[in-house]
Amino acid sequence: MSTTTTNPVEALVVHLQETALLSTSNNLLDWDQETTMPPGGLEWRARQQALIARIVHERASSIERGDLISAVEADREAMADAETAAMVREARRDYEKATKLPATLVEEMAKTSSMAKHEWAEARAASDFKRFAPWLEKLVGLLRAQADCFGFAKDGERWDALADLYEPGCTAKYVAGVFDPLRPRLQGLIADLSKAPKQPSNAFNDHFVSIDAQEALSRFVADKIGFDFNRGRLDRSTHPFCGGTHCNDVRMTTRYNERCVNDALGSTMHESGHAIYEQGLPFARIGTPLGESVSLGIHESQSRMWENQVGRSRAFWQWLAPELTRIVGSGVERYSLDDLYGAANVVEPGFIRVEADEATYNLHVMVRFEIERAVIGGSLEVAGIPSVWNRLYKELLGLDVPDDRRGCLQDIHWSMGAMGYFPTYTLGNLYASQFFEAACAEMPGLVDGFSRGEFAGLKTWLNRNIHMHGKRYSPAELVQRVTGKPLSAEPLMRHLEGKLRPLYGI
Ligand code: ZN
Repeated sequence: MSTTTTNPVEALVVHLQETALLSTSNNLLDWDQETTMPPGGLEWRARQQALIARIVHERASSIERGDLISAVEADREAMADAETAAMVREARRDYEKATKLPATLVEEMAKTSSMAKHEWAEARAASDFKRFAPWLEKLVGLLRAQADCFGFAKDGERWDALADLYEPGCTAKYVAGVFDPLRPRLQGLIADLSKAPKQPSNAFNDHFVSIDAQEALSRFVADKIGFDFNRGRLDRSTHPFCGGTHCNDVRMTTRYNERCVNDALGSTMHESGHAIYEQGLPFARIGTPLGESVSLGIHESQSRMWENQVGRSRAFWQWLAPELTRIVGSGVERYSLDDLYGAANVVEPGFIRVEADEATYNLHVMVRFEIERAVIGGSLEVAGIPSVWNRLYKELLGLDVPDDRRGCLQDIHWSMGAMGYFPTYTLGNLYASQFFEAACAEMPGLVDGFSRGEFAGLKTWLNRNIHMHGKRYSPAELVQRVTGKPLSAEPLMRHLEGKLRPLYGI
């Protein structure tokens, strides 16, 4: 400890911030590894990161940290301040998570998942689930042990304890309550679209544009929608992500496909949404929970809103079409506004989640939720996953899964020991729609403004209502506060039906 302060709040803040100075150094090493590190650096880099992670964990689970939290909790005057109380509530939550798992279990999990990730990659290449199954069985055993250490409500289930790591307060019952009414309505919409007389043109999604031109376009759009290049960067990587150290140094990446401008454009807008959230966190609170994002689901709501509600709107394409010709050239002027808008909104069931459109995407998530809930709950054996997966894809998306590679082996998440993670993607879509409706109600003409390249109104609204609060409110509280209602499937369905039915002429 470098501090001599006797004020318990200040002492806790110093301990939290010094830990964050260390842990965010690891973020920078991550970014470097994904963007510029030569392959030869891998082994030393792994040791650097493991050491930093160990020191961070030691600090986060130390008796000193526990004492500092208790000291603030005992200080009635300090706790009367709502922001301090929220900070301490979250610091306590993180401390409990860091101390509840025995070191042997943490170690076993780290070892098993790093092996399992490797085995998963091999099994996926060979499209052979049986090869991965023993590793997944081991991981499930460890995850169930983990859930028991964290604990869950009497009327809850083990899956809840795992989901809580990603989405505080999230339970299987809550997720099922939102997903169940959503499923048949999505299926109905997708069936109607597939039979519709008018199908949007997909031609623009197969139009060659050089990577340099696409990069120029990505930078232009990211800047216009509010990403601050003085406090962030955009680079290239194999898997797009948003990282960096704190609100004034946000690093995002995207990837380019010469045959499809919408890949890079969608991915850049998605990562920009994450990045604008990070840049909107209050600098004075960085390193404490009040300078952190609420949850994965709320984070995802920010990326999906810019990608979908903004980037797939007709008004956005009205603005972008002439800019596209100016920046990209390459004969794109031959596409009409209808062609461009249509190409951004083609709906077609497919096998792969990460390639899915806005409407079918959520059905992919529901398959994974149902399976992991059953596996963690004990009603489904690991060996039974492929057959349940394939049955659900037939039921929900009408597809016959040809092999495990395009089936239950497609995602990396389970191999990393991440169960309870997938629903945060759909929760993100639901939050995004509900927040966006609230923003539109408060700012009539918001969407019209997109057609003139005006995006600052939405960004400022998000800064004020969501970003600046850090972790002060739980996801459920935030939704209630910002929209006046609990989370529901209605805004997402209104968004999808209101856009796609007219586009498909039904
Ligand atoms: Zn995302």
